[in-house]
Amino acid sequence: MKEWEKTGCVLCAQNCGLEVLVEDGRMVKVKPDKENPRSEGYACRKGLNVIYHQYPADRLTQPLKRVGDRFEPIPWDQAIEEIAEKMRELVGRHGPRCLAYMGASTQGGHFEGAFGLSLLEGMGSHYFYNSAGQEFSGSFWVDGRVLGKQYLHAAANEENAEMYVAWGWNGMESHQIPQAPKVLRGFSKDPERLLVAIDPRRSETAAIADIHLAVRPGTDALLMKAMIATILGEGWENREYIERYVEGFETIRRWFEGFDAREAAQVCELDYDEIHRLCRLMATKRWCLHPDLGIYMGRRSTLNSYLMAILMAICGVFCVRGGNVIPGMLVPLGRHADERDPKNWRTLATNMPAAASGAFPPSVMPEEILSDHPERLHAVYISGCNPLRAYPDTTAYEEAFGRLDLLVVSDIVMSETARLAHYVLPCRSYYEAWDSTFFQHNWPGIFFQLRRPIVEPPGQCLEASQIYTLLADRLGLIPEIPAELYEAATGDRLLFGAKLMTWVASEPQA
Ligand code: SF4
Repeated sequence: MKEWEKTGCVLCAQNCGLEVLVEDGRMVKVKPDKENPRSEGYACRKGLNVIYHQYPADRLTQPLKRVGDRFEPIPWDQAIEEIAEKMRELVGRHGPRCLAYMGASTQGGHFEGAFGLSLLEGMGSHYFYNSAGQEFSGSFWVDGRVLGKQYLHAAANEENAEMYVAWGWNGMESHQIPQAPKVLRGFSKDPERLLVAIDPRRSETAAIADIHLAVRPGTDALLMKAMIATILGEGWENREYIERYVEGFETIRRWFEGFDAREAAQVCELDYDEIHRLCRLMATKRWCLHPDLGIYMGRRSTLNSYLMAILMAICGVFCVRGGNVIPGMLVPLGRHADERDPKNWRTLATNMPAAASGAFPPSVMPEEILSDHPERLHAVYISGCNPLRAYPDTTAYEEAFGRLDLLVVSDIVMSETARLAHYVLPCRSYYEAWDSTFFQHNWPGIFFQLRRPIVEPPGQCLEASQIYTLLADRLGLIPEIPAELYEAATGDRLLFGAKLMTWVASEPQA
C-alpha cells in the first residue's frame, strides 16, 4: 500500500511543506508541497533528501539503564519511576538549582521544548541550556533593551522593500527565510529593487548582489559606526520618524560626532565613496536588513546587534512596512529574562545570565557541574541534542558528565552523549510524532503547520512530550484534571480549547 502524505521539512527553521510517499509503512519519496501557503512548492535539496535522516543507524528502540559499563533494557514504568525518584531526591537534597535541562534545540519540532521547559519549571529550576544562549545571546539581549522583550525580534519585511541588505548572511545557501533563493534572485533581477551583500566573502548571495561590500572580517561594528556617523554627519537621518518613535536620540547622536568614517573605511578595507553611496540609498529607500551568523557570532556580536538597531532607527525603517518588522507569533520563542531583575537566575560558578530569552550558554555547563558550589548541578536531562559533538570542549563535558548523579538522554539514536548517560530513553522521530514549530517569522500572516505522524515508530519509542508528561505525572506535578474537561475533549474543538484555557488560567499548577 502506498500513499502521499502531507508533512513538513524538519531540517531548518523554514519548515517547508513536503509531500512524502509512504509505501508499506516506510518513507520512500519526497516532493515539495505546492499547496503549503508559506513555502508554495519550494524545497531545497536537503528537504528533498530528508528520508536519509529518518532511518539512521543505531536507532534506539527501548529504554536503557546503565549497569556498570554497559546498558540493559528496562521497561518504561521502571525507567520513569527510577528517574523521577532520583530527580526528587536530588532536588530535595541540593535544591532546584541542582537540576538542568538541555534541549529545545531542534529546527523541526518545538513540542519537545514546550514540555521539557514545563517539567523544569515544575521542578522549580530555571537552568535551561540551549544553543541560542551562545549563538544569539547578544541579539536577544539587544532586543530586550531596544524593544522591551527579549523574544521580540525585528525581521526583514522584504516583500515590501525596495532594497534588501544581507549582512553576514548567505541566504542563497543557508535560507533563513521562506524560499530564500527565489526571493534573493527576485531582488537581483528586478531593475526597480536592489540587493546589497555585506560579507568578506564573495558568497553565492554576494555574487548576485547589485552592491557587495567585502568588509574585512571582524570589522562589521566599525563599518556600522562609520555608516551611522556618515548619515548623521550628512543630516540624512529621518527626523520625522525619530521625533515620533525614538527615545534618547540626542544621547546617541553625540557618540558619533567627530568620528572619522573615512579612516574607519580604511580599517574595514573598503572604499569610503562606496559606503557613502550606500548610506545615501539607506536614507532615501525603503530597505530591510537580514543579518545572520556572520554578525551574530562574529567579533563584537552584541555591539553589532545594537548598532544595527540604531542604523535602522535613524533611517526610519525599524518596525515599519518594508523595513524590519516584528512578526506575529503563536507562541513566543522563550521568555523575557532581563538580567537586572533578581528573579532571573544566573549560573552559580560562572555568573552568566540567561540573556537569550531564558537560555543559558551550554559552554559553561561543564564548569557548573565541576564547581564546588553547594548547589552545583547534579542532574541533567538532555533531549534531542548531543553536546559532546555540538558544543565546545568535549573533554570538559566528558569529565563533567562523569561527576553527575543523574544524566538522562532522550534521543532517537545512541549518540556520544547518550553513551555517558545513566538512562537512555528512545524517542519518536518527527515523522512518527505529532509536532510543529513556533517559527512564524512572517508578517502580517502567521502560518502554523501541525504535523501528524506519517509512519509508525520502531519498538517502544515514545514522543518526547509524552516522556515528560509521564515523568511530571510520577513527580506529582500534574493537578487532577476535571471530568468535564475529558468530556469536552470528545466534542467541539473550539469549545474544548476555551474550556481548557479557562481551567489552565484558574489552576496555578496547570
Ligand atoms: S529550506 Fe530548510 S526547511 Fe526548506 S527544504 Fe531546505 S532545509 Fe528543509
